[in-house]
Amino acid sequence: MLPAALQPLRSYLGTVKYGVRMAGALFGKFPRDCTVCGHHGRFLAFDNPLHLGLNIDSRCPRCRSLERHRLVALCDREKNLFEGREVLHFAPEPGMRDYILARKPRRYVTCDYAPDIADLRINIEQIDLPDNSFDVVYCLHVLEHVEDSRAIPELYRIVRPGGLLIAMVPLIEGWDTSYIDATKTGNDRDRTLHFNQEDHVRMFGRDFRERLKAPGFVVEEFTAVEPYVSRHGLIRGEKVFLCRKPA
Ligand SMILES: [Zn+2]
Repeated sequence: MLPAALQPLRSYLGTVKYGVRMAGALFGKFPRDCTVCGHHGRFLAFDNPLHLGLNIDSRCPRCRSLERHRLVALCDREKNLFEGREVLHFAPEPGMRDYILARKPRRYVTCDYAPDIADLRINIEQIDLPDNSFDVVYCLHVLEHVEDSRAIPELYRIVRPGGLLIAMVPLIEGWDTSYIDATKTGNDRDRTLHFNQEDHVRMFGRDFRERLKAPGFVVEEFTAVEPYVSRHGLIRGEKVFLCRKPA
């Protein structure tokens, strides 16, 4: 038994051992199959979207897909989300751009808030597009960066009747309500401490569903379950929200 004064040393040594173990897994622990590009092999560690820290087996080295992209591609296998549709892609990730184009959409347009990185420059809180513009709007990990109570009605407005918003966010299922506090968004340190990333301004709870339904979307969920979680390197229980605008 260590003397009480040395107990912290044991804790620090334990952390060093943990760090060494994690370092050994940075370049992959198990081989996985990428649903986005078909790569089979070890994936790389990347940020955990909910907590400060790393996800092991997160990023595909070939197409750079993360867990959420592989979940959307898995969902697409079942529901054929993009083929023959007019698709608007927010904050386009290169791997998913190639993936969606390979599904042969009828029209494919990318957009971003930043200039010169997509076909259109769009402010999601005030979208400069006509009503009912697209069959499918793809919007992953964007709404936690913006005022969602303005953005979601705008997304509803530009989706065609019968069309679909595909949405994902970092989501804390154990929270009834989202954590939104304008006094915690003033600087990078506060935003990272409270919302897990320097450019996040909210952390959603279970009420995210009600926020999606507010303008009129009918919301269906596609969940990451076994055997796909272990096969494709998904986050257990993560959800794609398929938000249908009534026809
Ligand atoms: Zn891949």
